[in-house]
Formats: sequence, structure tokens, C-alpha cells
Amino acid sequence: MITRLIGLAMAAMMVCVSPTMAGTPEGAPTSALGGAADLIMTHGQIRTSSGWAQAMAIRDGIIVAAGDAKTIEAMRDRNTQVLDLGGDTVLPGLHDLHVHPLFGGLSERQCRIPQGSTLKDTQERLKACVERAGRGAWVTGGQWDAPALGEAPNRTMLDAVAPGNPVLLDDTSGHSSWANSRALEVADITSKTPDPTGGIIEHDASGEPTGVLREAAIELVRKYVPPPNQQEVQSALEWSLSKMLSYGITSFTEASVGFSAGMENEVKAYVVLADAGILKQRTRLCLTWDPGNETAEAMIASRNQYARDRLSLDCVKIFLDGVPTDSHTAAMLEPYEGSVEGREDEASRSGMLLVKQDVLDQAVIRFDRMGLTVKFHSVGDAAVRAGLNAIEAARNTNGFSGQLHNTGHCTFVAKEDISRARAMGATFEVSPYLWSPTPINDSITAAVGEERIKRVWPVREMIESGSLVVPGSDWAVVPSVNPWIGIETLVTRERPGGSQESFGKAEAIRLDQAADLFTINSARQEGMADKVGRIEPGMLADVIVVDRNPFEVPITEVHLTKVKMTFIGGEKVFDASSQPKSTTH
Ligand SMILES: [Zn+2]
Repeated sequence: MITRLIGLAMAAMMVCVSPTMAGTPEGAPTSALGGAADLIMTHGQIRTSSGWAQAMAIRDGIIVAAGDAKTIEAMRDRNTQVLDLGGDTVLPGLHDLHVHPLFGGLSERQCRIPQGSTLKDTQERLKACVERAGRGAWVTGGQWDAPALGEAPNRTMLDAVAPGNPVLLDDTSGHSSWANSRALEVADITSKTPDPTGGIIEHDASGEPTGVLREAAIELVRKYVPPPNQQEVQSALEWSLSKMLSYGITSFTEASVGFSAGMENEVKAYVVLADAGILKQRTRLCLTWDPGNETAEAMIASRNQYARDRLSLDCVKIFLDGVPTDSHTAAMLEPYEGSVEGREDEASRSGMLLVKQDVLDQAVIRFDRMGLTVKFHSVGDAAVRAGLNAIEAARNTNGFSGQLHNTGHCTFVAKEDISRARAMGATFEVSPYLWSPTPINDSITAAVGEERIKRVWPVREMIESGSLVVPGSDWAVVPSVNPWIGIETLVTRERPGGSQESFGKAEAIRLDQAADLFTINSARQEGMADKVGRIEPGMLADVIVVDRNPFEVPITEVHLTKVKMTFIGGEKVFDASSQPKSTTH
């Protein structure tokens, strides 16, 4: 399978002209305004819309020409900067349409439990964190997962190393948390506390809370954790932004504003960094909304006050379900395999739909009319269907508004819903970094069974249907924001570097298709297809210089691609050669 795919990728590449042949399609500048280039990149392999070019000229942040070195050289005068690529590859900048930079930056400072940690490792890590935090202070962090622990998590396991500090640890999905007895005490959660709407407090056989909290129940404890101050929020964001630039991410969508440090604090951090010229990426914020959320309504109403040149707040995020792990909270059309020990609730059978269909329809109709794009958290096939139903309701009421409403994650999608999405102009967002395979996948497989897992993240089917498909890392839910892992594993559906083990192999796509997801498709989703996502004259110079040509190396080496330089609007915003060796804060 791998060899066949490499063959396809190579064939796709050979259709493109070689560097020496390129140049004539675009040729020399044709702009009436003319003038010399500000920056020339030359002697490289530049992936343009019409084939591989050797050189490219940029003026005022815009690509004005691409072609052979000699043609582009003609656009040079004494003020022109020249970057000799020395054979390096230049690609369009990459997009990450589902990322949580604030969460990423903030979680760097929390108690880090590496994914896949055993119970013993988790306890040792926690013990060290408790000592660092000092007497009585909150200890928060993640990311545990039930299969790696080897047994169902219980508060007493945390109490053993943290008897006096309140502790709240997130799982790998971020949809379940594990509290110790002190944290439950602070939040006044007892055997008598009822489940909140959209959440579950798990209990042991004697009816006592185990400390495991699902979905909305997490908030019962989390609200007692002291929030980070504005300075911490800003510096966490700044750290994440530069991390993303180092991987070549030039545009991104923050998928749930309000999730990490409160909506106002988070928006403020973006605005401050945008005004200070530190926010370089073209950024869209999705404001997390649910019925009756007044903070979100107020922020949506004042969105244009906070919008900046590279910052838009024209997206609304709606959580429709949870995750299809041991928590069984993703909404599924067919029941989960088996049941959750000690749980007889409806969610343990088919998951939970968090918003009623008629309420959802009205919301999407309203946001669509306002010109806002809706992004759903929709993991299970029943949640994807609910999202599509709402988009259909909006189309029926408003006609085609042009907003590309986006069902997010799409771990499971019914076949008939894939063709439906195309017909109504709904788009799919997939999470290719989640299947690399990480421990969360074992948990997903156990929950849905061997048959359904064959069509997990049905990317090939989505593309074949003609739908627009875009990628999102979901960092810091996944440990790395590195997009090259996602690009490789969309093609291999194996571990980065290749493995016997695979995940949804039948849904693998070609490398050129994977590259499109991260560039052209994303630009379309963001309404910027005339500006970014491709290298050709007239486009903004959002480009990256990488250390290898992903179309020439074996597919299993693509994840090793290193970004040497990142440019946004012709400005160099990252240069690996001037970076300190490690970037922690
Ligand atoms: Zn997310």
C-alpha cells in the first residue's frame, strides 16, 4: 500500500514541470506599476500552481513572479534582498484550522503527564508537581488515558500522592477529568450531587464519586481553579504563536475561545498581541457558544471592535457531543460496544447530543444570517448528522449565504451524510494528528468495535464526494502541533515513520491531496482563497522554506520535515538558524 501511494505521489510530481522547465507560464512581471522586487528567492524548488519553479520575486508582500532564476534575476536592483535557497524547497504556508494555542501555552506550565503513562508513572509525576506547587495549592494538568493506566481511575490513587492539594487532571481528549478527594471537597461534590446538564459525575459501587468527571461536570470543579492572570495568558499565547511559526503554520483557527482562560481574557490576549505586531499569523477565532451563554452573545455582538487586520472573530463554535473513548460521550447513531462499568445512563449506550436539534437549527440559522461561520465539535456520526441538519435548516431559510459551516473532527460519519454535506455546501474538518496512532485510538477502538473503526475519519470518502475537507491538529489535545505528522499520516494512516499497525487504512489519501488540505482547502474555508494557499503571482507571500522536498522523499520521512524559514506577507517571521536550541518558557 505504501509503495503504491509513493508511486502515485511520484506520478503526480512528474506531471509538474521540472524546475528548469518552469518559468514561462508566469514569466516576467506584467504589472503596470512594475518596479524591482523587494525580495528574490532563487536556486530552489518552488511549488507553484503551475509547476515547480526555481525562483520567485516578492514586492510589497505579494508574489509578483515565479519562474527560472534568470527571468527573476531581471527584477533585481540594488535594494533587492536575495535569498539563495541552495536547492531548498518552498511551499505555501500551512494552515491549522482547529488548534488551541492558549491551551497549548498554558498547559506547558501545568503538571505534564505524558500520554500513555502508567498509573505508577502518573503518580510519580503528580508527586513531583505537588512538591513544586507547595502546600495546599491547586495542581492541574494532563493527559491520562484509561487504557494506559490499566485500571479505572479513582480519586484515591491521586490522594495517595496528593493528600493535601486539590488536583484536577485532564485526560487525553480533554473531555474527562480526574479529581482527587480534596478537589471534590473544595467543589462540594458528594454522593448526593446530581449530574449537571450535559455532564456526568461517575460513582463507585457504593455510590461515592470516583473523581472522574465527564464533559460539563468538569466545570463543577474547574471553576474553583484560580484562572491565569492576563500576563500569563498573553505570554502563553506568544509562546504558542512562535511555536506554530516554527512548524510553518501561517494561518490558523482557534477552535474554542473561552475554553482555557475565559473568553474576555483570551480575546484580549489576541488583540494585545495583534496591536503589538506579535500576532503574525492570519487568525480566526471561533467563539464558544451554547444556548443561554451571555458572555458569548456579548462577544459576538462586539466582534468587529476586536477584529484586526490579521484577526477575525467571525466564527462561532458549538459543541454537539463529547468523545468516543471510554467516556462514551460522542453521540453515535448505533450504540457503543459493551457498556461502561458502573454506568447505566443513556450516554453510556449511544453518547450524548449536547444541544437539542430545534435549538441548534435556530442558532445556526441566526449565525448564518449574521455572516458568521459555525464550527461544530462533532465527533460521533449522530453529532455530525445534527450539525448537517442545522446547516440544511439554515440553507432552507436563508438560501446559500456563502458561509462554509464546518463539522469538526468527524471521527465517524455515516456514508449518506457525506454526500449530503457536499449538496448543502457543508465542509468537513478532520484531525489527522489524532490517529498517529496515539493511546486515545485504543480507547476509541474499544468503544466502537472493529467494524466501525475501519471507516474512522473517512477522509478519502469525503474528498471523493467533492466536499471541502480541512485539517486541524487539535493541539494541545494532541502533544504536538507539528503539521508534518498530519500530512504524512493522512497518506500512510500509520505511525509517523511507518508501522505494521494502521488506523483506517482504507481512508488513506494521496500526498498532493494531503498537501491541499493544509493549503488551498484551508484558504477556501477561511475565505482567503484569492490571497493565500497557493504560490502564484498576485498571491500574498505566505510561504515556507523547508529542508526537503516532501514530494521527493519517501512518504515515511515527511514527518521529519524541518521548516527553515517562515514568511508571512513577505516578512520573515521565523528563521531556524537564529533560534536557540530549545524553546521553552
Ligand atoms: Zn479542539
